Amino acid sequence: MEHWEKQQRGLLLIISGPSGSGKTTLEGMLEAEEAHILQSISATTRPQRENERDGVDYFFMEKEDFEQKITEGYFLEYAEFNGNLYGTPRAYVEGRLEKGEDVVLNIETIGARQVAEAAPEDVVRIFLLPPSLEVLQRRLFRRKTDSLEVIKQRVESAREEMRTWEEYDYVVINKDLDGSLRKIKQILRAERMRRKRHPWLPEFVEELCTETISEE
Ligand code: 5GP
Repeated sequence: MEHWEKQQRGLLLIISGPSGSGKTTLEGMLEAEEAHILQSISATTRPQRENERDGVDYFFMEKEDFEQKITEGYFLEYAEFNGNLYGTPRAYVEGRLEKGEDVVLNIETIGARQVAEAAPEDVVRIFLLPPSLEVLQRRLFRRKTDSLEVIKQRVESAREEMRTWEEYDYVVINKDLDGSLRKIKQILRAERMRRKRHPWLPEFVEELCTETISEE
């Protein structure tokens, strides 16, 4: 058994970055290639897009339901983004961490801040940057999901969002998906090995230090 498989607590990998930075694609690749890490499915009040499935991409909710759930403490964090509410259901995340499994969250900065405050020991934050704003705009055009007006709005939001980069533990400039995935995997590997994530270590080291060696 690998040491990290003995760990008693998983980690929460937060990936933020402007629309078009590649978060969703990279998270999908990470989930497909790495064991023991799954994406959390957020709830949102934003209208469902044509290519999206309820319960897979998001849990689509009416605003009243969402607000009711806020009062019930259902969300680990929530935030308003472009006039819609988005939130991470608490139970799924906590259940997995307790089992020693990792969770990846694709959330914006305000939510990331809330999670970091609530669970500083569990959180690892990565900010994704595009190599240039022009590349970001090109990616948004290629996606064909938004009108010209919405794309312009997203590019303007990107300027604001990118200014929060210093709140993150790691910054990955997403020039190419394979290179960025490799970097994210390296971050994950190293973070899984952190001393604090291995509660069995003190006992192991104590046994090691007090071990009696036979004379033969
Ligand atoms: P979109 O509407 O394009 O799917 O997502 C818009 C923004 O909302 C993205 O920056 C995404 O990271 C963020 N987002 C998605 N789910 C959540 C969530 O549960 N909480 C927070 N705080 N942000 C979210």
